[in-house]
Amino acid sequence: MQESLIKNYEFETGIYRPPSEGGSASLLLRLTRNCPWNHCTFCAMYKSEKFELRKPEDIIQDINVMHDIYLQLKEISLKQGQAGIFSNETFTLFLKKAPELYFHPGISMLFNWLAVGGKTVFLQDADSLIMKTDHMVQVLNHLKKTFPTIQRITSYGRSRTIVRKPEPDLEKIHNAGLDRLHIGLETGNAALLKKIKKGATPEDHVKGGQKAMKAGFQVSEYWMPGLGGKTLSKDHALNTAVILNQINPHYIRSRPFTPRPGTSLYEKASRNELERMTPKEQLLEIKQTLEPLDITSRVCFDHAGNYWAAPDGRLLLSQSYEGYKFPEEKQNLLGLLEEGIAHYS
Ligand code: SF4
Repeated sequence: MQESLIKNYEFETGIYRPPSEGGSASLLLRLTRNCPWNHCTFCAMYKSEKFELRKPEDIIQDINVMHDIYLQLKEISLKQGQAGIFSNETFTLFLKKAPELYFHPGISMLFNWLAVGGKTVFLQDADSLIMKTDHMVQVLNHLKKTFPTIQRITSYGRSRTIVRKPEPDLEKIHNAGLDRLHIGLETGNAALLKKIKKGATPEDHVKGGQKAMKAGFQVSEYWMPGLGGKTLSKDHALNTAVILNQINPHYIRSRPFTPRPGTSLYEKASRNELERMTPKEQLLEIKQTLEPLDITSRVCFDHAGNYWAAPDGRLLLSQSYEGYKFPEEKQNLLGLLEEGIAHYS
């Protein structure tokens, strides 16, 4: 193996990314650590962790380390007569030379990403747009120059952060290569947003979503069926539809509410103080949310929480990342929901 210019193979990898960026699909590049808001009562993701911005030079160093690993792997593959293709053998030989990486939390992710052609990237953690625009552009430029195989870069982003960011800055970031934003809408109901301490109003969600669309991003909005319990179910559904109609994002993704350990809502649920919905009530709420939609989005149920069964025992709804295209597949989807509602009667 040729002498590496990099003496220390350290690079950071966070934990969370959307399912559509999972498996071997995406390189996970950590721009910030944890969540700058961290108050949402349903969310356990970064609860015990402190938010930190990372210096652009440290992120660039991570990219360089990963690229150096790529070069080492390529050399091994060529020496093995594998024409630059990365196999398990390539990775095993590399780890023999760099055993300090054996237990690195990001090494399998990096190997898998390189093995499938290095096409997509997810920027971690919870709200990358909170970085200074120039720093983010600098990182994106370096990333794309270093790995020219990259075809898509995505990130989480909070509505409030997008609202605060000037439009030209959003455009600069999009032009530098960030293609898609995953935004946690959760609900369009003002009282419920307040109750869950989302730190965003319905107006913020509309403004943030519309600004992101206008700047050229592909927008994925995540909503949380069941979040308001039985009492707020109807308002949650109808107000969410109002917001989604105004944004008309590329993707709408369902993440049904489940109390997560480590949250106050989980403690409430453990004490039986939380109003939970039956599968039938959840499906009725989803139907009420989708019926008023007049959009061209793709509506997706790409998460295990969308568990409902069809009468024949199979999953009721497709868990494809591309979901159901509206308006073309709207009636089909509403029909499936009706089947599910009848099944759980
Ligand atoms: S903004 Fe996102 S990551 Fe942060 S606490 Fe809320 S749901 Fe969790």
